[in-house]
Amino acid sequence: MKPAELVSRSPWLAHFNTAACNGCDIEVLAMLCPQYDPERFGVKLTPSIRRADILVATGAVNKKSAVRLKRLYEQMAEPKFVVAVGACAISGGVFSKSYNLYAGVDRSVPVVAYVPGCPPKPEAILDGLVKVIAKLRKAK
Ligand code: SF4
Repeated sequence: MKPAELVSRSPWLAHFNTAACNGCDIEVLAMLCPQYDPERFGVKLTPSIRRADILVATGAVNKKSAVRLKRLYEQMAEPKFVVAVGACAISGGVFSKSYNLYAGVDRSVPVVAYVPGCPPKPEAILDGLVKVIAKLRKAK
């Protein structure tokens, strides 16, 4: 298992839309662009969940996506961290009264950071990731 401090030097991200309207996803993708330059913090998107250190989850979790979210989380290597991006991922947001909803991401998997907003700006998402990185560096 990699130490958390090592992960903090170059955390690779996986992105999963649990049932978002795509608003948050577009902001996550914008955050990954050179304009915001997340690679200066070592942050990079990986297509493989098995190589990811941080799972960025967007959207409210429903009965179907909860199963997939848990499966993805189980496939990540330790240490692993989840960041909930957007009001829906935090609490269900505008969909919180839906009949098939479990509400936020933390009902299914442990979450280390929450980025509020509907949708949050790319700067806010990057700020949330940098705070997670700082926390991991302190944990060494
Ligand atoms: S928080 Fe807003 S933008 Fe993000 S998925 Fe929910 S409704 Fe869409």
